[in-house]
Amino acid sequence: MSVFITGGNRGIGYAIATELAEAGHNVTVTYRSGEPPAHSYLPGQEHTGGRFLAVRCDVTDPEQVDMAFKQAETEHGPVTSLVSNAGITRDGLLARMSEDDFTAVLDANLTAAYRVAKRALPGMLRAKGGRMVFISSATAMHGEAGQTNYAASKAGLIGLSRSIAREYGSRSITANVVAPGLTATDMAAALPEDRIKALLGQIPLGRLGQPEEIARTVRFLIDGGSYITGAVIPVDGGAGMGH
Ligand code: NDP
Repeated sequence: MSVFITGGNRGIGYAIATELAEAGHNVTVTYRSGEPPAHSYLPGQEHTGGRFLAVRCDVTDPEQVDMAFKQAETEHGPVTSLVSNAGITRDGLLARMSEDDFTAVLDANLTAAYRVAKRALPGMLRAKGGRMVFISSATAMHGEAGQTNYAASKAGLIGLSRSIAREYGSRSITANVVAPGLTATDMAAALPEDRIKALLGQIPLGRLGQPEEIARTVRFLIDGGSYITGAVIPVDGGAGMGH
């Protein structure tokens, strides 16, 4: 299977790429800036030692999205599984949240998911099936002070995914959401220590999630989820009690 993962150069996306490559999938990851991720190879390069293809792409730019898919298709054929993972935060209380901070987060987290899903769709229709997985957040369900933009974008992914599930279920395309709780990546490391402590107090398992634990859930949906669609799967140490 050819899998396309946005924001696969670090954090949860990188763990998903590693998990799926180890499972034998042909994996393409996008990286936005800096160097391509470890264990990757570039379009047209020898694969020696590389586990996955790395293509440069800012998901807020439709032309870059199209080019990245073209590169993935050239190397691996039509994308049959999509993991829309790239995401950002720009936290602030509503009273102080600028229009730019709101729309930038919506664009990177939600509009980009629409963009990559739409771009992946024709290949999946031709392949007579596909898997779309959208990485949302537990925040989509319970909200978070200082995250009106982020929570709205992550909740939007649920409506997006469930609508795709209804539109394309008859074509064997599944669409699901994975909703991580606090997970040990750069994004969580940016939170103040007292905030992390407070959040930990709400997690029955009493610890942060590891990116690999999110990755295993995504792999389950891709490899074993043939009869699962429109679902929201929390991977949050019990914080939301299944939501
Ligand atoms: P990181 O901040 O560690 O990584 C974010 C990734 O998204 C990076 O690869 C980054 O690329 C990429 N990215 C951001 N904006 C763009 C863009 N415009 N175009 C292309 N790539 C972009 O975050 P995590 O790994 O923690 O998060 C991954 C996903 O999981 C996100 O959607 C996040 O909202 C979600 N999540 C994370 C949780 C957590 O506690 N960590 C909890 C719940 C959900 P670059 O390296 O270039 O910046």
